[in-house]
Amino acid sequence: MKKSPFQFIFAETNAVLLEHSITLSQLEQINWQQVSFLVLDATNLSAAYAALVQLRQQALPQVYLRPIVFVAAKGSREGWQWQAADAVIEKDTDHAIDWSVWSEQLEGINRWIDTLPVIAGAVDGHLPVRLLRLLASRQIDAAPLASADICTGFIYPLLQPLFTKQDMGAIQMLAFLEEQRLLSPTLFERAHFCPHCDSAFLNFKETCIECGSQDLDVVELVHHFKCAFTADISRFKRGGDSLVCPKCDKQLRHIGVDYDKPSVVNKCRVCQHVSQDANVMAKCFSCGCSTETKFLDLRRVNRYQLTSVGLNAAFYGLQTYFTNILEEELQLVSLREFELFVSIETARIARYGKSQSALAIVRLIGLDKIHFELGSKSKQVFSELAGIFKAVLRDTDVVTAYNESVFAILMTETSKDKADLALNRLNKAVERLFSENLDRTLDMQIQAVNVEAELQVKQTLEQFLNN
Ligand SMILES: [Zn+2]
Ligand SMILES: [Zn+2]
Ligand SMILES: [Zn+2]
Repeated sequence: MKKSPFQFIFAETNAVLLEHSITLSQLEQINWQQVSFLVLDATNLSAAYAALVQLRQQALPQVYLRPIVFVAAKGSREGWQWQAADAVIEKDTDHAIDWSVWSEQLEGINRWIDTLPVIAGAVDGHLPVRLLRLLASRQIDAAPLASADICTGFIYPLLQPLFTKQDMGAIQMLAFLEEQRLLSPTLFERAHFCPHCDSAFLNFKETCIECGSQDLDVVELVHHFKCAFTADISRFKRGGDSLVCPKCDKQLRHIGVDYDKPSVVNKCRVCQHVSQDANVMAKCFSCGCSTETKFLDLRRVNRYQLTSVGLNAAFYGLQTYFTNILEEELQLVSLREFELFVSIETARIARYGKSQSALAIVRLIGLDKIHFELGSKSKQVFSELAGIFKAVLRDTDVVTAYNESVFAILMTETSKDKADLALNRLNKAVERLFSENLDRTLDMQIQAVNVEAELQVKQTLEQFLNN
């Protein structure tokens, strides 16, 4: 079927740009196979942006992932909203727009949408998945932009339309996805935020360490050589420009000869306190709260790239994600909690010297490929795989997922030899599951070490992964 661009009509004032058009109420009836991209008249940017938000909030991936372009007259492109669209086409009054160029450029996105596993009637309610899909379909990073239009100071223009007021903000959501190892960060900027309202707009000011007043003067310090008296310059002033030492009553004539000015200090106009120090406070423009700078949230604002795990989750959703299924079967702990358990166990063993414990590591090689090969069926396979883990491990074992395919297990009261036996049992059961049911194999890398005083969990995991 030949595809063509469709104009999305969102207001009566929209200029007619294309013969094919569609309105909000028609989105569900249309055959999306004939739509190459959606065109919005962006003569009024904020109205066009609001319409784009309506589209990105739709449930069907065929709709919310569709390429969207703004068409506008030549002119300034100020405002991050311009960058929320996949492209901006300039309308030249003399020439007709060559739509076919854009169709070609944007077709890659449509092809990506077409590869999504089709699950009848399924809609994408899950915001993390929608976000990952938007990035994956465009093969781009989530790139932040500093903007005074938004109180958090930074915005991800392409992603922002996915969020409603009720959702957590884009910055928090991206940090959450980073924690899940679905995205990998590179630092864009470090910034301070108000701990009360997340605003980045802060007025930093020095305040008196005695009375808290912000009414400070920066004054010069004067040091009289002869008697060594030092005080702020106002104490030396005696009408006009002349300086007289309040201690020894001598006149100070020449700087460098009679006196010098070693530094500047803060003098409070309210309580007269003089000090080299001052408290730096930040007053928030948005909520009005004043916060000592050390209590501000200092965050890393990152650019984010999809990881291979993130790409999988973009295709198949997070429900079919092995770690999530394992989570239901076993109580997974975070890596930090796991390290804590190991250090407690190490201390316990060192203290009583009676027992042995083992750290076991399991890597399922090529687990991510199973997503691609089995699609929605992978959920069932992963459930069975999780069942094997549950059968082999004991309730007292502590398990963490280092990433989607590497798991660390603290086996208490278990020698390295016994741990090896358990890992072999796990390996055999997994082999059987794959060879008998799927006619393929899943390679595993396994290792067990004794829990000893010098054991560093992260280091051990990294070494294991590099082998
Ligand atoms: Zn004061
Ligand atoms: Zn003096
Ligand atoms: Zn605030």
